[in-house]
Amino acid sequence: MSQIATPTLGELLDQHTVAAAASRVKHGDIAARNRSSSIGWPCPSGERFLVLQRTVAGKDASPELQMIFEEGTAQEEPIAESLRQDGWEVWRPEVVDLVWPKYQISGRIDKLCRIPEAVALEAGRDPAQVYILEIKTMSPYAYPRLTSWHELLRAKYAYHRCYPAQMASYLWLEERSHGIMVVKNKTSAQKRFLFMGMDEWSWLAEESIQRATRVNQHLADGTMPPVTGYDAEICPKCSRLAQCLPGERPIGADVILSDEMAERLARREELDPLRKEFAALDDSIKASVKQLAGKSAGTWLCEDWVLQVKCRDQHYKALPERDLVVTTVTIRRAKGGSQDEPAAD
Ligand code: SF4
Repeated sequence: MSQIATPTLGELLDQHTVAAAASRVKHGDIAARNRSSSIGWPCPSGERFLVLQRTVAGKDASPELQMIFEEGTAQEEPIAESLRQDGWEVWRPEVVDLVWPKYQISGRIDKLCRIPEAVALEAGRDPAQVYILEIKTMSPYAYPRLTSWHELLRAKYAYHRCYPAQMASYLWLEERSHGIMVVKNKTSAQKRFLFMGMDEWSWLAEESIQRATRVNQHLADGTMPPVTGYDAEICPKCSRLAQCLPGERPIGADVILSDEMAERLARREELDPLRKEFAALDDSIKASVKQLAGKSAGTWLCEDWVLQVKCRDQHYKALPERDLVVTTVTIRRAKGGSQDEPAAD
């Protein structure tokens, strides 16, 4: 017989961790500016994601994504320290949080760096060159696949696809010629270094700035880019899905921003298979008892369960010649609670 499984201690701790991460996700924020970290979000409906970020309150990440971001932030300083040990100069700029009012873009440049002198000289580069430094971590699944900026643009996960536009817009806005992204494999601790030169990537920077300008225009005009596409890789994980509902939002529908309601809906979904299993099992037990009973009433016992069959004749005024025997089965425990589930055939 099927039973509702009691969660193990490990499962309870897992649920607790996800719930704690969910409570740390910023909620209700309307972005004051275009965030450089999401300016490259590959929304199939163009600027819709960015306009939603700036006009409608909503969560910025799922609990799972929040944990990925927090882990990345926690890893930044240890990775910077390991670079210093390898002969890099890595430092925090005087101003970390930046705003470029003309384009209504904000960003955060955590680190600047110089690469080791010997490496710079060997590569024919100026050892005094200062680079914008971005530090990221990747799963052992993503790390071997994403070996270049071009591969990042085609990455499976949308947040990986945002990295090139983020770096390109930093370089363009800060008028720096080069940036480096250090990517660390979370499992093996291997590091990969992706260099970006403004000469080669100015097209992406300009595209990103134009994108921000179009968003600003939407805000000025009070317009919203319509849904023009749905991407099964991107949209289900989009933090603005609840506000966008691509292809699903009926005219006039409103959004309920309630964690409690979302939890109840999720629990309802979890219980749904049990409801179906209960109904199927209940039907099959009653069918078996009806088969035992034939066309007559009776009572059967199975351990401390009482299975009672009642029969009655059903007469139809409009069809007096029609005579139907209706059989109902009730199931209850001999002691304790009872559960009556009449059924007729
Ligand atoms: S759900 Fe899809 S279409 Fe809507 S904003 Fe997000 S990425 Fe864009």
